[in-house]
Amino acid sequence: MSTCTGPENAKVVVIGSGFAGLAAAARLVEVGFKNVLVLEAKERVGGRVHTTKPFTENIIEAGANWIHGQKGNPLFKIAKEKNLLSEGPSARKNMCLPRSVTPQDYFFKEDGKQVSTTVVDQVCSHFNKLTDKAFNDELECKHKNLTLGAYLDDAFGESPLAATEDGQQVYEWCKRIECTDEACSSLYEFSASQISYYTALEGGFFNTLGPGGYQAILDVLLKDLPSGTVQCNAPVKSIQWDLVKKGCGEDQRYPVKVVCENGESFEADHVIVTVSLGVLKDKATTIFEPSLPEEKLSAIKNLSFGIVDKIFLFFEKSFWPDDCAGVQLVWKEGPEDKDVYESLSEGETWKKTWFKKITGFDTVARHPTALCGWITGREALYMESLQDSEIAAICVRLLRSFTGWSVPEVSKTLITRWGSDPHVRGSYTFISNGVNGVEAHKALASPLPPKDKCSGRKHLQVLFAGEATHVNFYTTTHGAYLTGVREAERLISYYAD
Ligand SMILES: Cc1cc2nc3c(=O)[nH]c(=O)nc-3n(C[C@H](O)[C@H](O)[C@H](O)COP(=O)(O)OP(=O)(O)OC[C@H]3O[C@@H](n4cnc5c(N)ncnc54)[C@H](O)[C@@H]3O)c2cc1C
Repeated sequence: MSTCTGPENAKVVVIGSGFAGLAAAARLVEVGFKNVLVLEAKERVGGRVHTTKPFTENIIEAGANWIHGQKGNPLFKIAKEKNLLSEGPSARKNMCLPRSVTPQDYFFKEDGKQVSTTVVDQVCSHFNKLTDKAFNDELECKHKNLTLGAYLDDAFGESPLAATEDGQQVYEWCKRIECTDEACSSLYEFSASQISYYTALEGGFFNTLGPGGYQAILDVLLKDLPSGTVQCNAPVKSIQWDLVKKGCGEDQRYPVKVVCENGESFEADHVIVTVSLGVLKDKATTIFEPSLPEEKLSAIKNLSFGIVDKIFLFFEKSFWPDDCAGVQLVWKEGPEDKDVYESLSEGETWKKTWFKKITGFDTVARHPTALCGWITGREALYMESLQDSEIAAICVRLLRSFTGWSVPEVSKTLITRWGSDPHVRGSYTFISNGVNGVEAHKALASPLPPKDKCSGRKHLQVLFAGEATHVNFYTTTHGAYLTGVREAERLISYYAD
């Protein structure tokens, strides 16, 4: 039991101001915790939510863009109640996933010819059915231990669509875009069976926010925090937990001390760690003193953290037809072809063709002369090492050669680098083949010290929230939010006992 008298005296430090951190802080403050501090490494709040206005008054979402699902989605609820959702035709502006391909998506091949919309529709809807089987836990026994790529190859191979060149090539595109959805480098590294633990919420899957973007939801959470609760530019260097002063027995008032890189330190009864899985992979062995239990370290190692980057290209004027929602690139030999994947798995030759991982270029809501390219995995990380100008030149070359249109030079770019960002180190979590995701998410979420090993020491010294700690909604903003609330509720019950 805490030596504090109640929640009003408990000192809580939250590390990170993404949705998980802000949700935790907002819930604690709401129920009367008076001493809540959020330490954020960056100069801004939001983490992987980054609504920015780089060139005009209109926003660009460099990170999360959509609210996935409606029923039971707390962020959809907030956005709906506060009138933050985008309505009308622009709300239909979706990323071109297999399940949302429209006739306005132009699928171009390397030879400049377009793939017929019939073939695109047939392949995408068949691909969709096959991935749904994995999502719905309906895989046949023979497919359960396979990677998603291997399962799909086997199942798609039985379709007559696999017998045509266009069918095969669009199928490769579908695998590439699925990598974007899953943040993995390749579907050949991604578990087919574990995906069934991910829960898609009912209702429209892509809910677009209005002119304030995701920042408007962050602002709703920030509004109720007392001023000074969030301290930006405060990267945490060490989390010293289980502190016992020599000679003071077990009743140390503050069992945790958080030290920032600038030397400033904060004592706390409880610390809620919400940094990304990527940051934990990078720093878990150095930031915690004493080090984390083996179970947690292996969860951090076993869960995978993938990279998704966006390549925003701005032009002086648009050069695509008015009805075009995006240019999708269909390769003769794409990186998600099994043979190509295998031939590139050793060595570094894949770096020469990194751009083949770009799925295509979609038009961008509120930016009529911009396109957004999508890229994932090791190719995304490699791209991050290149200059913007080099990336833009390659993209223009691709657009010119695939479409044959008169594509002008790019006037401005905004290219994300989530993998190299030291405070994020990637985009979102995925489950590699052979890993028990549920076990790993749970181990990551469990607080320290473990209750059964507490004997007299303060329980709930270090709590863990963040997208990667949710068994069913990992990867999403609402998942992150709900983990923050979960950890706040854990503390609330602790003080209610
Ligand atoms: C390109 C991209 C597109 C996405 N698209 C969508 C989408 O459309 N819909 C959706 O639902 N989700 C999407 N996501 C995922 C979603 O953004 C995340 O799941 C969610 O925002 C994670 O929130 P979080 O609070 O768990 O972590 P984060 O947002 O990563 O917050 C953690 C915070 O901790 C801070 N931090 C790290 N280290 C330290 C330290 N040492 N000291 C102090 N602070 C530290 C970080 O700066 C960060 O602010 C996308 C993500 C990316 C990158």
